[in-house]
Amino acid sequence: MKYKILVMEEIGQLAIREAEVPKPDKGQVLVRIKNCNICTTDWQNWNGMRGKSNKSFPYAPGHEAAGIIEAIGEDVEGFKVGEHIAVGYTGCGYCDECKKGNTKSCKINTEIYPVEGVTGGFGMSQFMLINKNQVFKVNENLPFEEACYLEPLATAVHGVRKLSVNPGDTLLVIGAGNMGLVNAQVARAFGCRVFVSEVDETRIALAKSLGFEVMNPIKDDIVKFSNDFCNGYGLDHVVVAVGNTVATDQAFKVVKRGGKVLLFAAGYPSPELNLDVNKVHYGNWHIIGTGGASVGDYCLSNKYLSDGTVKVDKLVSYKVPLEEYEKAFTLAATPGNYRVSLVLWDK
Ligand SMILES: [Zn+2]
Ligand SMILES: [Zn+2]
Repeated sequence: MKYKILVMEEIGQLAIREAEVPKPDKGQVLVRIKNCNICTTDWQNWNGMRGKSNKSFPYAPGHEAAGIIEAIGEDVEGFKVGEHIAVGYTGCGYCDECKKGNTKSCKINTEIYPVEGVTGGFGMSQFMLINKNQVFKVNENLPFEEACYLEPLATAVHGVRKLSVNPGDTLLVIGAGNMGLVNAQVARAFGCRVFVSEVDETRIALAKSLGFEVMNPIKDDIVKFSNDFCNGYGLDHVVVAVGNTVATDQAFKVVKRGGKVLLFAAGYPSPELNLDVNKVHYGNWHIIGTGGASVGDYCLSNKYLSDGTVKVDKLVSYKVPLEEYEKAFTLAATPGNYRVSLVLWDK
């Protein structure tokens, strides 16, 4: 039996390829993928925003995938055919970096490439062969397009953990895009007093519907708003969830002495960091980068999705069938839209 795989042959050129459905080897699980969400990295590779340097084509996009276990190889315990799972990226699990939790630094590639000459996540495929340590059992009541949030939500958990927040800390998230609103919900779950800044009215409304206080830096003074929010002490933490210099500049205007700024978002071309070293020195600031997630972050992400601590239903803007991949990527790349979810099977 053959199955379909979405492949990016070149920038702007998507096509469906076919392959024979594989049998899982020792330690592997075959998953019938129901949905794969289009990550910002996916559509930016497609429309050329990220250039050619970080990808070799052809490559198979997709890493935010969820589905049902179809078959299990030898030496895989704790899973059953028919269970709902989401795909995680946890490294090999055995090297020094993985043991420390730095799974993103793992140099052992555990991805399985079913088509010769094509690399990538292969999440936009009707079946996916994955290693057992990438399989996370999810709540069966969770729609698959929401289960696809396991990976992006885990990266937000990873970032907020790096801030070492305490309950009652003040935290600003700049940008109410997809990852901004995921970060804000994670920070709230960790006990922070959170507000969001955003310039787009539709996004402001969505952030408010999730229960956040929101300010618009075009209409209001972000420094005054922040000071009012924290009684003049300056903010404990700022998460920059948009990749531009204006947002990063704002973060350093409102963070307190000894406060932390988490740079969550990338921008293309890369935004400049306008920083005076003396200010960092005297300000005792922590400037933290983040990306990827550890096994523990995946577990907490899974719990948050499962029990509704983090709500992502409103963050899925469209569900589009695989055959309409062109439309799906166009929608994903349209400013203002949140995640677009590819549906891999008719039913
Ligand atoms: Zn992603
Ligand atoms: Zn490893």
